[in-house]
Amino acid sequence: MSETKPLPESVLISESRLQDRIRELGAQIFTDYENQELVLLGVLRGSVLFFADLARAIFRAQLADQGREVALRFEFVQLVSYHDNTKPSAVQLIHGGSDYLKQRHVLVVEDIVDTGQTLKFLHEHLQTLDPKTVKVCTLLDRPFQRQVSVAIDYTGFEIPDAFVVGYGLDHAQRYRNLPYIAVLEST
Ligand code: 5GP
Repeated sequence: MSETKPLPESVLISESRLQDRIRELGAQIFTDYENQELVLLGVLRGSVLFFADLARAIFRAQLADQGREVALRFEFVQLVSYHDNTKPSAVQLIHGGSDYLKQRHVLVVEDIVDTGQTLKFLHEHLQTLDPKTVKVCTLLDRPFQRQVSVAIDYTGFEIPDAFVVGYGLDHAQRYRNLPYIAVLEST
């Protein structure tokens, strides 16, 4: 067992703010896709908590609106990106999703958009799977280091220029299970 480190102290987005905003996003997505089938495409690993809460928020919007539905299917891709100060980050595909995306409405569920390189790479990959439509929902948008322009259809929060952890986001694989978003304090 490695040495125990203190939890990051500075909460940026509390659990209740996260859940309130995700409820709003779920209602908006439900309205936009009502009576259609939608493939929620989670980007592993950072989006898992957001993905799970968003999927339930879409269902809760349906409960409040009897008679209409959005039929959800879950799919996942896994990407890794290597950040280096001397060159733009290189993105690599670990798991590329399934053929099921062909001619389906796809909503990419991301944890955070930073440089935009991951999303650009994913967009190009998804085109090879021939989806009907592709939209993007990101919990966090940090636009300060953007290198490529990317279209984001649903955003939870725009955040300041600081490295964040929690609610799926890690630092060296730690902190993913915090129920809130925190700024990682340098120790
Ligand atoms: P991009 O390709 O847009 O630069 O970065 C996207 C990926 O980098 C995210 O999906 C996430 O995995 C990682 N990332 C970017 N910024 C942060 C951050 O502040 N905290 C953490 N934990 N991961 C980040």
